Amino acid sequence: MEREVVDKLEGPGGPPPALADPAALRASFRWDDARAELAGLPGGALNMAHEAVGRHARGPLADRVAFRFLPRAGAPRDLTYAALWTEVARFAHLLEALGVGRGERVFSLLGRVPELYTTVLGALARGAVFSPLFAAFGPEPVQTRLELGDGRALVTTPALYAQKVAPVRDRLPGLRHVLLVGAPEEVARHPGTLDLRRLLAEQPADYAPAPTAPEDMALLHFTSGTTGKPKGAVHVHEAIVAHRVTGRWALDLQPGDVYWCTADPGWVTGISYGVLSPLCNGVTSVVDEADFAPERWYRTLQEQRVAVWYTAPTAVRMMMRAGEEAARPWDLSALRLVASVGEPLNPEAVRWGLRALGRPIHDNWWQTETGGIMVANVRAEPIRPGSMGRPLPGVEAAVVRAPEGGPGPVEVLGPGEEGELALRPGWPSMFRGYLNDEARTRRCFVDGWYLTGDLARRDADGYLWFVGRKDDVIKTSGHLVSPFEVESALLSHPAVAEAGVIGKPDPVAGHLVKAFVSLRPGHAGDAALTKALLAHARKLLGAAVAPKELAFLPELPRTRSGKIMRRLLRARELGLPEGDTSTLEGGADAPPAAPPEGGGAPP
Ligand code: AMP
Repeated sequence: MEREVVDKLEGPGGPPPALADPAALRASFRWDDARAELAGLPGGALNMAHEAVGRHARGPLADRVAFRFLPRAGAPRDLTYAALWTEVARFAHLLEALGVGRGERVFSLLGRVPELYTTVLGALARGAVFSPLFAAFGPEPVQTRLELGDGRALVTTPALYAQKVAPVRDRLPGLRHVLLVGAPEEVARHPGTLDLRRLLAEQPADYAPAPTAPEDMALLHFTSGTTGKPKGAVHVHEAIVAHRVTGRWALDLQPGDVYWCTADPGWVTGISYGVLSPLCNGVTSVVDEADFAPERWYRTLQEQRVAVWYTAPTAVRMMMRAGEEAARPWDLSALRLVASVGEPLNPEAVRWGLRALGRPIHDNWWQTETGGIMVANVRAEPIRPGSMGRPLPGVEAAVVRAPEGGPGPVEVLGPGEEGELALRPGWPSMFRGYLNDEARTRRCFVDGWYLTGDLARRDADGYLWFVGRKDDVIKTSGHLVSPFEVESALLSHPAVAEAGVIGKPDPVAGHLVKAFVSLRPGHAGDAALTKALLAHARKLLGAAVAPKELAFLPELPRTRSGKIMRRLLRARELGLPEGDTSTLEGGADAPPAAPPEGGGAPP
């Protein structure tokens, strides 16, 4: 199976791959080569918004369409590179007028509307830091991230504000400006907010981008850990060096292409490859404001003549469910490359792509912390279905055995051995640390390697195969969910004594969030309470994060130090071997319990 290869199918007259000779470039490439291709600003300054749009706005690409927005209903709306820059400039001026300073955080909580893209780029042009919030988050994740990120300004809509921000606004004293995108009369209903469209119209239409240094913070992407609060991964302006070339190499973005990234800009893929990489590479991006529906997606591929499509395994599986026949009526001849990221891509999905779309699906791998694609099945090399591909030029990856929590040494494993996927630090889009959390940052960098938290194997030809995650974090429909965040929300319900949350395999979503709870005395675990708890979690967390299933247990398995053993919950749910239970509270082979503090005899 591992060696099964899907070779390329070349479309009629398709251009040669942008990464024509991966082996040669892997051997010769230095990141300085890619740095030298940027426009830059006087004095060695570098600004992502300038690289992505500003420099094109008066050049040969000025009149090319940067974004084509497809509203839920009605005609598409095009924004050229020049017109986009005008909007970006206005937003940057507005931030300045409001007193939002360099390095201060600007958040968005929006669907895929034009103002979202102006917010990202306008904040960067201003030299502020942009941080996205997923529109399907509930008030709890919104508040936590705004608080941890010290959000100074937020752009959202009247409806999202009313549901998710207004209820927690008094807990966010640092949030000085809330800018609403909507009809003036709707905006006017929310005291303490500003009308974004009205204010933008008053701003000048050009802007000198802030002369940010390559190492200045540009983006703050929240990601989930197993324990504790979400982690804010800090990315700097220099990341654009990697966004640009990795888009060319892994996605084969070529000037003039029509490109569609289905990832929502509430997450890192939607920013790195839905905004920055395509703009740097001078392509036209299609943005669908509506949600997934197979027929609409096929129509979009056909009508927009999409050449490069970057999507996710959950979406592919949903299309597979609609059946191969659903693809037949559509003319997909413009498609040159289909790529996917975020979860394991089943080998069957790669082959389905070949049959239904006329193109195999190219899996690639990266994560919030890497800021850009690190490993990919590139167009010029054969795909191995089920593999994530090989490291891109400039990326040194290895499968390693690392000591638990220790300083090293890290042992690099050979082909076929299973271990943790590690990367050699130094690529430009590498996160520079978790915001205000040096200890957590330090734990990721051991003995000259960045440890990714993913388990993998490498075959003899250097292809990497995903095995699983090292931690308990859940990937559901491509979104990373912290079991801790879900457990905390459940614990805020008066009936809940304990909560443990796991990912349960699901044929479409990859995993779904399943909660186990034990109840306080006086509460009965019946259907009504199940419904009430699911609703409670959904109200706090939002649909993207809340559990889909819930079961009651008299008590949850805990380690002797008191931690809920999610591993055991998962094993029991799936009927897997329970593994080592020696640390289980009351476990048969457990050593005697330590005495409570201050009492009992010393061990
Ligand atoms: P995020 O930081 O939310 O982008 O999630 C990153 C995580 O998603 C990785 O650490 C992996 O666990 C998972 N992931 C991303 N791409 C792939 C892939 N191609 N195959 C398997 N898992 C993936």
